[in-house]
Amino acid sequence: MPDIKALRSKLPSTGVSIFAVMSKLATEHGAINLSQGFPDFDCSPDLVDTVARHMRAGQNQYAPMPGVFALRTALAEKIQQLYGRRYDPATEITITAGATEALYSTLTALVHGGDEVILFQPAYDSYLPAVELSGGVPRLITLRPPDYRIDWDEVRHAVSARTRVIVINTPHNPTGTILDRDDVRGLTRALERTDAVVVADEVYEHIVFDGARHESLARYPELAERAVVISSFGKTYHTTGWKVGYAAAPQRLSVEIQRVHQFVAFAVNTPVQHAYAEFVARDPLCTSLAPFYQQKRDAFLSLIRKSRFKPLACRGTYFQMLDYSAITEEPDEAFALRLIRDHGVAAIPVSPFLQGADPGPVLRFCFAKRDETLEFAAERLCRV
Ligand code: GLN
Repeated sequence: MPDIKALRSKLPSTGVSIFAVMSKLATEHGAINLSQGFPDFDCSPDLVDTVARHMRAGQNQYAPMPGVFALRTALAEKIQQLYGRRYDPATEITITAGATEALYSTLTALVHGGDEVILFQPAYDSYLPAVELSGGVPRLITLRPPDYRIDWDEVRHAVSARTRVIVINTPHNPTGTILDRDDVRGLTRALERTDAVVVADEVYEHIVFDGARHESLARYPELAERAVVISSFGKTYHTTGWKVGYAAAPQRLSVEIQRVHQFVAFAVNTPVQHAYAEFVARDPLCTSLAPFYQQKRDAFLSLIRKSRFKPLACRGTYFQMLDYSAITEEPDEAFALRLIRDHGVAAIPVSPFLQGADPGPVLRFCFAKRDETLEFAAERLCRV
């Protein structure tokens, strides 16, 4: 018998993802699930028909390792139209098993043992484990409520010759903030005289509100030269369960990403890629998504106006942060549990996105839900 006790965890301080924990609890308690980020409405039936058509046409074997070429071509067109940069579909775009795999393969490809990686926290939960599994050293910069702004002087001080990667996320999960042009200038200055690569998690690129512009790094040639821009079809097409995303990066970076990707996933779902290729080519700008979710954000905010929850500014994503300090002094995880058990609404506490920093009295609520779901949830929140 092997000595299983001798097994040493490679992620000893990592528990089960908060999204899995909260969705399970929501099901167990029959709570309205505004925790894990996914729509409770369906994707376009036309998209489903298109996938089925490609399945019936026999597109059921391995896709090319970097992705179906029609999809990479459609994405190259889309990114050029939206942000001005031309990525070569043959060498600079990799289709991945969700943005999660794009992040993992990118960080695994770039981070060597002892390399420093700058992460802003609250940080999406997959970044830190990916850095740790490569033996990277996370340098965490804490963003604080209510506005979670990045202090770029602090970043400049944190950057050193050992900095290999800076991970940014705009629009930002969980806080709903976005980076603006001043932030882009701050980032550019922080990178001066370094060889660091920027990994830009832009999965909510089309969900930016109130007329603001999404500041993709693909807009800025100087940054794009050293950036991996990552997005996900799950957010844009209401298909989080299909787990297809991509990474766009200059060739010398894409080569390294694909060296890892070919052994993490090799390739991803073929018929789904063919269907997305048609949808991306048909509507590359996706201009209807932001108004769609802005209407949901505003409906949710208006429904909870009379509650004791106080909204923080939500400029993008489909998450609304609510300050609960008028209700209780409980820590966020305890309050999130009580909210499920006693009030039947599941939300996401912020502390799992932080290491050794105070999350403040806030919870994250997902408003990618049908109007009646938001109404039922708001009715309950107004009684808390
Ligand atoms: N990104 C989604 C969220 O923030 C969940 C992803 C997941 O479940 N891993 O809620």
